[in-house]
Amino acid sequence: MLTNDQLSAWDRAYFMHPSTHLAQFARGEAANRIIEGGKGVFIEDRDGNSLLDGFAGLYCVNAGYGRSEISDAIAEQAGKLAYYHAYVGHGTEASITLSKMILDRAPKGMSRVYYGMSGSDANETNIKLVWYYNNTLGRPEKKKIISRWRGYHGSGLMTGSLTGLHMFHKQFDLPLPYIKHTEAPYFYHRPDRGMSEAQFSAWCAEKLEAMILAEGPETVAAFIGEPALGTGGLVPPPEGYWDAIQAVLDKYDVLLIADEVVTGFGRLGSMFGSDHYGMKPDIITIAKGLTSAYAPLSGSIVSEKVYDVLMQGTDELGPFGHGWTYSAHPIGAAAGIANLDLIDDLGLVGNAGTVGGYLKQGLQAAVGKHPNVGEVRGEGLLCAVELVEDRAGPAFFDPAKKIGANVVGAMLKQGVIARAMPQGDIIGIAPPLCLTRAEADTIIEAVRTAVEEVLGQG
Ligand code: PLP
Repeated sequence: MLTNDQLSAWDRAYFMHPSTHLAQFARGEAANRIIEGGKGVFIEDRDGNSLLDGFAGLYCVNAGYGRSEISDAIAEQAGKLAYYHAYVGHGTEASITLSKMILDRAPKGMSRVYYGMSGSDANETNIKLVWYYNNTLGRPEKKKIISRWRGYHGSGLMTGSLTGLHMFHKQFDLPLPYIKHTEAPYFYHRPDRGMSEAQFSAWCAEKLEAMILAEGPETVAAFIGEPALGTGGLVPPPEGYWDAIQAVLDKYDVLLIADEVVTGFGRLGSMFGSDHYGMKPDIITIAKGLTSAYAPLSGSIVSEKVYDVLMQGTDELGPFGHGWTYSAHPIGAAAGIANLDLIDDLGLVGNAGTVGGYLKQGLQAAVGKHPNVGEVRGEGLLCAVELVEDRAGPAFFDPAKKIGANVVGAMLKQGVIARAMPQGDIIGIAPPLCLTRAEADTIIEAVRTAVEEVLGQG
């Protein structure tokens, strides 16, 4: 077995890590951590530290670590048939069964699942589906996709363009044409403090309508949004937001893509965020919680309305010219089946709702009155604590002070992982959905101690 020092040296010499300060990492100025194992909500690193993973990896290990039900299903599938493709009508028992299980759980009006490996490639597929749909309907100019500032939809060329966070655009020449960004439904950052939630939702819908009219409704194909904003700040939508947005989309015949990569399969305390907020999506993106990240698998759930047109297109043009080698990979599908069964058997969707409510209340009680805590918010097990320099205003910290990262660093010293969200001083908490109240208490205590260590008692 390699020593930790040897592995660490190879890590810095050979491994290009995503979302990492490459220069600092190579020079040894930024930490590395080598993970060895995990059980429930805890992971263990090679130095023997056991850490409560308050962000479920990248909010994806919904069922928790070390679930033999899923790893056994993977091993069994790998032993029987590790791979076969899904082109020209091929399938496996696993990929067909999983499709039925997803449709059984999906919001009403959904028809088929197309599979990919990541949330990014699923959203890339979605853009192609939308373009194919409009081309088949004889309106080739209807191509633009509207996303939101602070939305996160991946980091490919098109999906990085959909993402509304500056660090994913800078130096990559993004966003590409066809992609426009409208206002984020971020009530805490509303432009006028006097607005109610309902007024702010109406304002967001007005801004969207103004953009559609300015671009020309005949050029706008789809709107994409996460039911609750994820990486852009972990922000549940303000009251009435999705109803107001849906009315605008319906008026101009603009499709709705619900990006449920984070919210799908229970995170908000409902199986899907679309049902949680009464959205009526035409396409739904799924990934992460589909397999609890035990194997890479994503999907686009396509509605009957869209699928009928896609079928019409293939009647006119022949086979659908879109596919990945690993679409519907049997190992991913086997992991998905075992994972969805486990989510049901353990009641994890309900647990996310109840323990999530407990966690939010606990955070509110622990730090909600601290002068540098602007807001404690959340829905289910998607929670955030936003830190501010001054609650009046509010006034935000200079990003160079790295307040969010420092608080997350202080939490780590107590054995709890949270995520410093990339834009703003926002402490992100999105643990596995099997979190217990006692584990929620550990997170709450770590947040309280870390906030006081970095920002004082207040
Ligand atoms: N969509 C949402 C809402 C996400 O949060 C993410 C990743 O965090 C993605 C898409 C991209 O998924 P992936 O990183 O698997 O490409």
